[in-house]
Amino acid sequence: MPQPNPLDAARTVEELRARVAAWRKEGLRIGFVPTMGALHEGHLSLVRLAAERADKVVASVFVNPTQFAPGEDFESYPRNEARDAGLLQQTGCDLLYAPERDEMYAPGFATTVTLSGPAEGLETDRRPHFFNGVATVVSKLLNQVRPDIAVFGEKDYQQLLVIRRLVVDLDLDVDIIGGATLREEDGLAKSSRNAYLDADQREVAGALNRILHTVCDELRAGEAPPRAEQRARDALLRAGFDGVDYVAARDAGTLNKPEDDAPADTLRVLGAARIGGVRLIDNMAV
Ligand code: AMP
Repeated sequence: MPQPNPLDAARTVEELRARVAAWRKEGLRIGFVPTMGALHEGHLSLVRLAAERADKVVASVFVNPTQFAPGEDFESYPRNEARDAGLLQQTGCDLLYAPERDEMYAPGFATTVTLSGPAEGLETDRRPHFFNGVATVVSKLLNQVRPDIAVFGEKDYQQLLVIRRLVVDLDLDVDIIGGATLREEDGLAKSSRNAYLDADQREVAGALNRILHTVCDELRAGEAPPRAEQRARDALLRAGFDGVDYVAARDAGTLNKPEDDAPADTLRVLGAARIGGVRLIDNMAV
């Protein structure tokens, strides 16, 4: 039986640029999907979206050390490049970019991109290092690939707004596209970290999405955000979560705290909760 051709992979910026330059010479549009690997249907839906909007799709797999704090799961983060490459190939990706750590962060590396605005609060309260790491690596990746479009998941909604802010503020010539969140049947957002959940924790995990839906219903019915948020935090603990980092209704465009009279349909509800050692996040439009 003939085997499908393995997906082309670039390991260095030089290889990547040579491949992309050849496509550019043909006048092709380039789409880009950055990931940390351990790919699931959520990631693949972003690849499909990129393929609809561009002629060639580059996906990167790079577990970025600078967005993990000491004690987080950088070492244990699931890695399986052969599996990822197979999935990307079946999904219409044209090139895998999988640089080694030294290719991204050469000795002497000394630059960090920091943001305020949408990067303040929420994830940053718990993970102060996180968006500096993300903004720096995404700036580098966008400069390396120079895509016409780049696709990011709404699953990481604060990250999506941070990236939109970054490309405006640094005049990066790329359209940022948000892809809808893919979910399991009980509503749990697909995530590489769901693999860490045991059966009991997995059962509890589905409550995060349900409870955020309840917050949306309450806000639409005219409830004040602080009251709906507090009820949700209590409900998450009752459902079996060990801790709640935040449940917050925020302005969907800026993530600012909403005015008292803000219409419900301008809001986004975001939540983060912990179970065992696993931290889950989710969000939705009200
Ligand atoms: P990660 O590998 O977790 O850094 O995610 C890479 C990209 O996939 C990010 O833009 C995420 O927002 C996106 N993503 C992660 N999970 C999902 C999901 N369940 N549905 C859609 N996109 C997702």
